[in-house]
Amino acid sequence: MALLEVENLEIAVAGQSEWLPVVEDCSFSVDNNQTLGIVGESGCGKSLTAMAIMGLLEQSQVNITNGKIWLDGENLLDMSAGDRRRIMGDTMSMIFQEPMTSLNPVYRIGDQIVEALRQHRKMTSAEYRTRALQLLEMVNIPDFQQRINSYPHQLSGGQRQRVMIAMALSCDPKLLIADEPTTALDVTVQNEVLELMLDLQRRTGTAIILISHDMGVIAQTCDEVAVMYRGRIIESSTTAGLFANVLHPYTRGLLNSIPAIDSETEWLDAIPGRVPMLEEKLSGCAFHPRCSYSQPKCADTLPAALSIGESHLVRCHFAGELEL
Ligand code: SF4
Repeated sequence: MALLEVENLEIAVAGQSEWLPVVEDCSFSVDNNQTLGIVGESGCGKSLTAMAIMGLLEQSQVNITNGKIWLDGENLLDMSAGDRRRIMGDTMSMIFQEPMTSLNPVYRIGDQIVEALRQHRKMTSAEYRTRALQLLEMVNIPDFQQRINSYPHQLSGGQRQRVMIAMALSCDPKLLIADEPTTALDVTVQNEVLELMLDLQRRTGTAIILISHDMGVIAQTCDEVAVMYRGRIIESSTTAGLFANVLHPYTRGLLNSIPAIDSETEWLDAIPGRVPMLEEKLSGCAFHPRCSYSQPKCADTLPAALSIGESHLVRCHFAGELEL
């Protein structure tokens, strides 16, 4: 069994008068030393899936209605709230999109790292400080001995994200979930932060789930990739396998929207339309209103997940028949 196995996960959110499915039949796994990318437009269910794994869903508004989440052989959904809290930030931790909103502006960064440690490790005050310094050095914060006393606003965006990574790694988690960790950063700093995460993975063996809407970031960092659309995984494979043989029109659309550095095209290819709202009930393939290959069957019948080759899964009635 892999370190993390998500099996047929279903999540629903409270609508006006009924529960609306927002993640459906979602299965994937990630093992030690492996990086899984989950990619898709905003509103496809990527972050909700991550929050379900972390146990961060607000139960009154969002409900896990089916499925299992196995971590190290234990189903997280069978655990008590206390046990979930015990492993959150310890066995698994999460880096959020915007560090300025995740760090507390009125506390020094050193104190915030120590606070994260204090939740799970018993140490003396001197040991907490030594560990905080080690972590800041590990994530390449310049002048870390002085910077430990800085407030978040005194650091650059890239440095703040490094502090978030230091906090997430403070208890040597087995699983790290990074939800759009570089979206708020410019391209150079983005590359540095991604490199840092992969370098730490090489040293610690941590499994990483990287959530992104950017296929370029996924190609650069992930071993496996799962493409989500409207709450379902519509294509998954090894990253090399996916890029060599794209089988779903939505994945092709995401790839076509990446700007090529050597292209003189003025306009990028965008996928027409938008991700349907939750209240919009769609039969058949949820992508059919936006798909240029759509045929009558697509609007009526939900495509099954077809296994193509060794590890390539795709949900399209015409997988392998389309010239994408
Ligand atoms: Fe397009 Fe039909 Fe395939 Fe859906 S099932 S991706 S609508 S061709």
